[in-house]
Amino acid sequence: MTTSPATEIDFEIHPSQTRVPAAERERILADPGFGQVFTDHMITLRWSAERGWHDGKLEPYGPFALDPATSVFHYGQELFEGLKAYRQASGSIVMFRPQANAARFNSSARRMAMPELPEETFLRALELLVTQDREWIPDGEGNSLYLRPFMIATQRGLGVNHPSSEYLFCVIGSPAASYFGAGKTVRVWLSEDYTRAAPGGTGAVKCGGNYAAAFAAQQQAVDQGCDQVVWLDAAEHQWVEEMGGMNLFFVYGTDAGGRILTPALTGSLLPGITRDSLLRLAPTLGIHAAEGRISVSQWRADCAAGELTEVFACGTAAVITPVGGVDGATGGWTIGSGAPGPISLRLKDELIGIQYGHRPDPFGWVHKVA
Ligand SMILES: *Cc1c(COP(=O)(O)O)cnc(C)c1O
Repeated sequence: MTTSPATEIDFEIHPSQTRVPAAERERILADPGFGQVFTDHMITLRWSAERGWHDGKLEPYGPFALDPATSVFHYGQELFEGLKAYRQASGSIVMFRPQANAARFNSSARRMAMPELPEETFLRALELLVTQDREWIPDGEGNSLYLRPFMIATQRGLGVNHPSSEYLFCVIGSPAASYFGAGKTVRVWLSEDYTRAAPGGTGAVKCGGNYAAAFAAQQQAVDQGCDQVVWLDAAEHQWVEEMGGMNLFFVYGTDAGGRILTPALTGSLLPGITRDSLLRLAPTLGIHAAEGRISVSQWRADCAAGELTEVFACGTAAVITPVGGVDGATGGWTIGSGAPGPISLRLKDELIGIQYGHRPDPFGWVHKVA
């Protein structure tokens, strides 16, 4: 196996001849929704055992032609990332911590027996797409261009005893409004019938298979009148892990002297970049932050005692989503007043402020593209 040095991986530029007309694009950007509309271009890059990474292109967005026997259709060898490009009030275009996505993409690749991509190539691919399609980044705080890098196994054949010998890396972009409605809370369902991830499994990997296995539980949450599912640990079904595709934080106390706790990364949780950012940001605001563990019974008791005042979920797509209430097989309870709490809102304001450039960026998280 040969992997060409990073500096040799380049992208040919093939601009689209059929771009969406400006007036139509502006109409879309006025109300982009989430993940329904895509920009004019995409990035593709191939890997084979003989050639390593090769054939990089920026090309018109469009469908792939793949043989029905392509490995990914059968064995799900796939992984992805999610991050955003923002248009700041100054006109600058930035991404938030893209190096962290590059690093996580490669740790996912190792677990899925897929080839790693040099971090500078991952970044270059994102920058090329964002620069080419910069007119697709909507204005306004909360709006962004959602970037979806992903990799699929493209070897043809049904042999199952080895990983694919060919892969396709791709990046697409989709203009996005903020994901959940502002000022709202979600109600969560404690899943006891299903498990998201087990020790030694793929819980810490951003792979599509984790999501495929989660839809039944999410459907059950909706059937129970809830918005999202909360995952518990696989062994004891009592330790809280995540909410849907987001990490969770528990807030103790009130504004002065508040502290936040998030479940530690045991290997079955996804190491969220928003989670990591909040763990580092909170102390700069006088909010103590820790990783630890919390059981369902503790969650309920601490809410009843008035000590646990807020709970929120966090992730790139929705930033911070306050949780208002909990339901499970043995009943439910309300968190605080059931409305978004002050510490959740403060952390959200601070993080969004860094992303949109009107708060200082003490950690150097903002990566300028143009
Ligand atoms: C992507 C993801 C998150 C959040 O990660 P961010 O880097 O903060 O966007 C959390 N949990 C799961 C299962 C995820 O797939």
